[in-house]
Amino acid sequence: MKKVIVVILILALGVCFVGCGAQNNKSDRHPAQLGGEVREVEPVETTVYITRAGEKYHLSDCKHLRRSKIKVSLKEAKIKDYEACKDCKPYK
Ligand SMILES: [Zn+2]
Repeated sequence: MKKVIVVILILALGVCFVGCGAQNNKSDRHPAQLGGEVREVEPVETTVYITRAGEKYHLSDCKHLRRSKIKVSLKEAKIKDYEACKDCKPYK
């Protein structure tokens, strides 16, 4: 009887292993695809804000944006030699 129980246990573990492995593969693929899409889009659509007189770019809620707030892409801000604000620490 003991041998039968051991064989059943081995079969059960084998099925579980294969089943879990298949599930893991599926769940691994989706985040990878989503992450890939996000990484491709993010640098293009990252938005920062500059001021008329300042030489720094800021996040939307930064205190330095009270006087003027001009929406630009991060790429554009870098091209125009704006630097990241030290207070709100926007994307570099
Ligand atoms: Zn700032």
